[in-house]
Amino acid sequence: MATFKIPQMMTYVDDNYDEIRDAVRKLCSRFGGEYWREMDRERRYPTDFVSALTDSGFLSVLIPEEYGGAGLELSAASAILEEIHRSGGNGGACHAQMYTMGTLLRHGSAEQKENFLPKIATGDLRLQAFGVTEPTSGTDTTRITTFARRAGKEYIVSGQKIWTSRAEHSDLMILLARTEKREDVVKPSRGLSVFLIDMREALKRGMSIRPIRTMLNHSTTEVFFDEVPIPSDCLIGEEGKGFTYIMDGMNAERALIASECIGDGRFFIDRAAKYATDRSVFGRSIGQNQGVQFPIARAHIEIEAAAEMVKKSVALFDAGKPCGSEVNMAKMLASEASWRAADTCVQVHGGFGFAEEYDIERKFRETRLYQVAPISTNLILSHVATHVLGMPKSF
Ligand SMILES: Cc1cc2nc3c(=O)[nH]c(=O)nc-3n(C[C@H](O)[C@H](O)[C@H](O)COP(=O)(O)OP(=O)(O)OC[C@H]3O[C@@H](n4cnc5c(N)ncnc54)[C@H](O)[C@@H]3O)c2cc1C
Repeated sequence: MATFKIPQMMTYVDDNYDEIRDAVRKLCSRFGGEYWREMDRERRYPTDFVSALTDSGFLSVLIPEEYGGAGLELSAASAILEEIHRSGGNGGACHAQMYTMGTLLRHGSAEQKENFLPKIATGDLRLQAFGVTEPTSGTDTTRITTFARRAGKEYIVSGQKIWTSRAEHSDLMILLARTEKREDVVKPSRGLSVFLIDMREALKRGMSIRPIRTMLNHSTTEVFFDEVPIPSDCLIGEEGKGFTYIMDGMNAERALIASECIGDGRFFIDRAAKYATDRSVFGRSIGQNQGVQFPIARAHIEIEAAAEMVKKSVALFDAGKPCGSEVNMAKMLASEASWRAADTCVQVHGGFGFAEEYDIERKFRETRLYQVAPISTNLILSHVATHVLGMPKSF
């Protein structure tokens, strides 16, 4: 049941979104540690949590009002995901709806937007799957080989994606595929196209999904396309220009993942500071020892510094300014700061840091992901070295 509805046409004078943050916290209080532990233990998808977020309008904050959303900016989505993570929950089950929707919004036709956005806003259609990564190409996206071949009024898709998270819990997928071979285009980034696929239909016509069990509960999968016919009106924007469409969606993704890291970091710091204060060993609070309190203070400082970079990158995105380098830097700083906060939190909890019921070990596993996905640290360093600092390209 929804407890809060995001008022449309609301003007937020406070860019911290205090009212929204408060409402997200209230919603999350209904999904406590026990809920997330059960999902994690049984590798279940948190359907009730995602439904509650959808009903309250939090998942459609970025959808314009004319299509039934709240029409807010990325900074609002950032605040929502941060609060979910700070509460001990995880937005990984549904965050993709926020950033994949942007590809449709910015590059889709008027008809595609009319057809899909209102249903995504109400939750009648779930757009949670984002199929980019392939087993052989890795981070080198222009080397993907999944191919969409034009055949009359259809495209025929063949190939394989990996790490397509939430594919089993989504009705639609944003798919990146080649429509021209890499060797036939002037630049490797050309000849890639984006499609909005109705997975319910594709599953009947040659697409199959295989779950991958991972160290965290992330509902990730492999998706196979065996000559799958899709209508040609699934194409988003112009054929061959998909790489640029995907890139601006990736900027939103990285900024939002960075926000989740900030939430994780604050969760670990809250827990560590409280435990250090409450736990008494050798007749005094362990938090009285500087050897215990300094790492917590350091983790706090690192998270707050990273949060400023996240804020800056989100503000640039919202202003429609170039933000590629800033979102990457924000994602790196935030993911490393949340990881150090996680490590500190485990250390402060001693043996209890390993006990499932404290939620620390689960969050520790969850926050580790973000140094690898959606983009790994080395690739960010490489981007900054070559694109910001002008050093020679290494690949
Ligand atoms: C749980 C999970 C969920 C995911 N969800 C999705 C999803 O929904 N959709 C999707 O499309 N993808 C998804 N991914 C994929 C994710 O984006 C990739 O795993 C990530 O981008 C890294 O790519 P890779 O695994 O192919 O690593 P690789 O590209 O094989 O790289 C392996 C390691 O080598 C390093 N490396 C590679 N090349 C260089 C170089 N030239 N110099 C220095 N270091 C280098 C990398 O930094 C990395 O540490 C997910 C992954 C995971 C684990």
